[in-house]
Amino acid sequence: MEISDWEKLYDEAVSTVRGQLGNVQGVFVAYNSNVDAMKHIREEEIKKLIGIIGPAKLRERMIEYPREIKDPVDFMARLFIAMRDGKAAEVPTYTTDIHEWLMDNLVFDSARMGGQAGIISNLLVTLGVKNVITYVPWLSREQAEYFADSPDLWHPAMEDGKLVLKHPKEAFNPEQKPKINWIIEFSRGMRFRCAGEEFEVPRDNRLIVSSRPNWIRIDMSEEMYEQLSEIREDIDGAILAGYQMIKEEYEDGSTYADYVKKAVDVIERLKGCNPQMRIHVEFTSIQNKVIRKAILTEIVKKHVTSLGLDTVEVANALNVLGYEELAYSVINKGEDSIVSLYEGAVRLLKELDLQRVHIHSLGYYICVVSKDHPLDVKEQREALLFASALAATQATLGSISNIDDISTGLGVPVYDQGFEDLIELEKYLVRRGVCSAEDFEDGCIGAPGHNLIIVPSKVVKDPVATVGIGDTISAGAFIALLAKMPKVNVCKAME
Ligand code: ADP
Repeated sequence: MEISDWEKLYDEAVSTVRGQLGNVQGVFVAYNSNVDAMKHIREEEIKKLIGIIGPAKLRERMIEYPREIKDPVDFMARLFIAMRDGKAAEVPTYTTDIHEWLMDNLVFDSARMGGQAGIISNLLVTLGVKNVITYVPWLSREQAEYFADSPDLWHPAMEDGKLVLKHPKEAFNPEQKPKINWIIEFSRGMRFRCAGEEFEVPRDNRLIVSSRPNWIRIDMSEEMYEQLSEIREDIDGAILAGYQMIKEEYEDGSTYADYVKKAVDVIERLKGCNPQMRIHVEFTSIQNKVIRKAILTEIVKKHVTSLGLDTVEVANALNVLGYEELAYSVINKGEDSIVSLYEGAVRLLKELDLQRVHIHSLGYYICVVSKDHPLDVKEQREALLFASALAATQATLGSISNIDDISTGLGVPVYDQGFEDLIELEKYLVRRGVCSAEDFEDGCIGAPGHNLIIVPSKVVKDPVATVGIGDTISAGAFIALLAKMPKVNVCKAME
């Protein structure tokens, strides 16, 4: 297939999926939403902040290299380190004190929805998906403001002991404090003399102060959990994310094992009598290897059907599952890293008993699907192409405000390097006798154990924004598949 053939497939796929999205009866999306407070920091502002905390303290703290932000000096130390090195950094904070200090002394330029579940919920209603039931355990008044104003967006609430669905703006807990992450962007070329060092910021980049107050819990009240089955009839599947918030130990003596169990219980409750319910988990970077492994082997394995992740996350996942060498070759970005990614995807599919593993990378998406998945290769491929057109739309426009915006993404050309990478993988598979060249284009359906669907993606040269595009890709592909799924009410059929 030539690039021009792919462009044709893109047009057809987007038109087909658009026509099918109305088939989705509903989708449940949980857990993580937060507010992203964006600030593009200027030289004078930094000087003012140094004046407040004192340069001597800053110097000491930079040497200590704080791993968490406990006070304003930690914040300034990590900001200075990030600016000096021109590197992106994300540092957690476990109280809301730094937020208050930043509000008093800096104030943000703009704020927007952050967190995978929040971003995905808004995206789905924007695409016109009906009945999107979002669930945030820490839904505050401030957080609710960032949910799209849509009659298709719901949040569960308890009223007189009964589960009811309301728009998030009517379902928040007035007592709940907001979870606000700060994204401090800085520009190349700013010059500083401070703490005995003189430097010029080498690159535009950002420091994220990630809010992890101790009330963050991936859970659900007992009474809501008991009645979760009420919404089961209204949904075709669920997209779950945010498990990275689970901590190894909590102040009250509970541990990650308690929260892993709660997470699994919610999934099983959503499935009810329908073990075929599609459950997608969107993975992310998790530093703590105990938690990373527990999420994969105890939540994802056996309970989930579909997993979405980027290339670094593939390496991280393989690493805790005991495939260190393969993990290394995935991130090594050598010539055949696409081959390692494919091998990695197959390992994840098998090790975690999944039906589908979807990896997004800059230039192509790889999806391996078990033979018993109800949809065929063409349908799976359409879902990936639709997702790529969405990603290109978001990269071009910064955000998607209507399904019609997708024509912008469709206009972005297929990335030629991604197309070349595909050919590398094809050669490898043909050489290994896994499939023939024609079969490769049809999803390697001759390969034992799984089908392979791989598409070159559309890549925007000068993207307006890239934050959250991974979530858009995974959610876009998954919703397209839900739209194509035969609608059988398994529970009714069993009666
Ligand atoms: P995030 O967590 O911010 O969503 P990820 O690493 O999960 O980041 O996903 C980023 C994905 O976005 C990449 O895998 C790539 O497929 C896509 N992407 C990044 N930049 C562009 C771009 N300029 N044009 C199109 N897609 C892009």
